[in-house]
Amino acid sequence: MIHDKFRRTLVMGAAIIVPALAGAQSHADSISAPIRDVHYDVTFMRVNGQAREIEVAMTFATTGSAPVVLSLPAWTPGAYEISNFVHWLSGFVATGDGKPLVWDKLDYDTWRIRPNGAKSVKVTFDYAADSLDNAMAWAKPDFLLFNGTNLFLYPEGQSMEFASTVAVHTEADWRVTTGLASGAEPHTYTATNFHDLVDMPFFVGRFDVDSARIANKWVRYATYPAGSIAGQVRSSAWEQLKKVIPAEVAVFGEAPWENYTVMQIVDSSYGGASGLEHQSSHVDVLAPSYVGSEFQPSLYAHEIFHSWNVKRLRPSEMWPYNYSRPQPTPWLWVSEGITDYYADLAEVRGGVVDAAGFYALTAEKMNEVGGAPPVSLEDASLSTWVHPVDGTGYLYYPKGSLAGLVLDIMIRDASDNKKSLDDVMRGLYQSDYKKGKGFTAADWWNAVSAAANGKSFAQFASKYIDGREPFPWDSVLPLAGLRSRQEQVPRLGVMTQMDPNGVVVATVGEGSAAAAAGIRPGDYLITVGDIPVDDQQFGARMRAKYGASAAGAPLAIKIRRGSEVMMLSGKLQFGPGDIVVEELPQASAKAVRIRAGILRGATDK
Ligand SMILES: [Zn+2]
Repeated sequence: MIHDKFRRTLVMGAAIIVPALAGAQSHADSISAPIRDVHYDVTFMRVNGQAREIEVAMTFATTGSAPVVLSLPAWTPGAYEISNFVHWLSGFVATGDGKPLVWDKLDYDTWRIRPNGAKSVKVTFDYAADSLDNAMAWAKPDFLLFNGTNLFLYPEGQSMEFASTVAVHTEADWRVTTGLASGAEPHTYTATNFHDLVDMPFFVGRFDVDSARIANKWVRYATYPAGSIAGQVRSSAWEQLKKVIPAEVAVFGEAPWENYTVMQIVDSSYGGASGLEHQSSHVDVLAPSYVGSEFQPSLYAHEIFHSWNVKRLRPSEMWPYNYSRPQPTPWLWVSEGITDYYADLAEVRGGVVDAAGFYALTAEKMNEVGGAPPVSLEDASLSTWVHPVDGTGYLYYPKGSLAGLVLDIMIRDASDNKKSLDDVMRGLYQSDYKKGKGFTAADWWNAVSAAANGKSFAQFASKYIDGREPFPWDSVLPLAGLRSRQEQVPRLGVMTQMDPNGVVVATVGEGSAAAAAGIRPGDYLITVGDIPVDDQQFGARMRAKYGASAAGAPLAIKIRRGSEVMMLSGKLQFGPGDIVVEELPQASAKAVRIRAGILRGATDK
């Protein structure tokens, strides 16, 4: 998942975190009688769109009188939070061979149904689709997004490897798009197991969809509202997909899906941009300002890379998924952070950005991490389920991405650029995912070490992954012909606030340019060096105008003090600004090979 880089700016209005009900039921009670011939009906007509409600039915066959115990998932994999989808459910009814059945609940999202000898059992309920969140269900009068985790019940304590079919009942002129395999009838779908069933979100209603061949597979682009992504905006989104997907396929040597669907919602009620990955699709929700932004290709590249890294190659703590409880893992820095490293790599390898653009993306992450409290990658990964408020909760995105760059450089340096992080990812994909298991700490570090010519990473892991030490950029980046440095930027040396009258000075730094010019707390700043302080691009304009000037150069500052407008004569001072990443002049030939290898996705044989 990714949310406007790593920040989750939206408050989940109705989501509540409730601890699991340990010991509330005996083990025997929680095992369902076996069920078979499982079929789900999802009804979304115009009238349902008006009511923002989905009608759901589940039918199955069972034998005997033993209770059938059905549970609804509590979370959607990729969105690491307990959401308790039962919150949106109402009107639960169970019938057997057409007659009402007795049922009770074993916990808030588990029902125990007494089939009483009935051969065919049917369960129906309504589901309120009012949450604009890519892990949830959201309806408009002409459109529905839902995730299988929101609606589809499973038999408690039985194998998740049960086959099922789904039928969507909707208006004749409305579309249905999902990654699920199509059945024999229109708008019917089949899944061979519950994990696949709930990993295929649906769009139903009026929306645009078109498709193209990329990397010898079909890719679909489904966008709501209809007409929202058209003309040049649509063709540029397609260009981005055509650039990043082949660069990602090259890492693993294969596309893991027969077809892939990018499902995108643009809505002005949404405050940011967010994507949620699935095995052969992902769902993006964007505020209109994000359409066509620089973030858009980065979002696509991130979510599509997840179809290998986390949807298939996955930490052992989340293998298999358990839908009823949290599955914390210390490895989200690999699942999310290294995914984001590969999003940047896919952009530069595919030609969405040039080398300078890749360095800027890297520097942006360094600045994000540098501005946050120190946190270990393992701790940040584990803690995300409780959404910590201390500013560390999502640091595994940018810091995990940087860990990917550091590991890539160290592997390439130790192997004389014959191996790379690509070999680690491809190797684990083959040795763990293809063998039907999740990866462990030993799997990961053995693969890294093997790629790095046997080099031990024990100390590295203890300092930089489990520990909180900052990455050793000054020793690592030069191995790839790069360096980072903190820019010196013009600095006035004041803290300011906005109030209805303008930009008011709160504090003046001792010995600052502002102090020397005579600025006092309470003064309103109007212009600095003729640049209006309320200009959105104030910092950038200051750097452009004065970045190359000498300290001490004259700097005119216009202020308002009380009712008086005054011009003060200041002198330019510089202070620390952002970190930038750039190519190292006079890098060694080996470092230049490593740098080129990272940027092109190549190694030396
Ligand atoms: Zn992600």
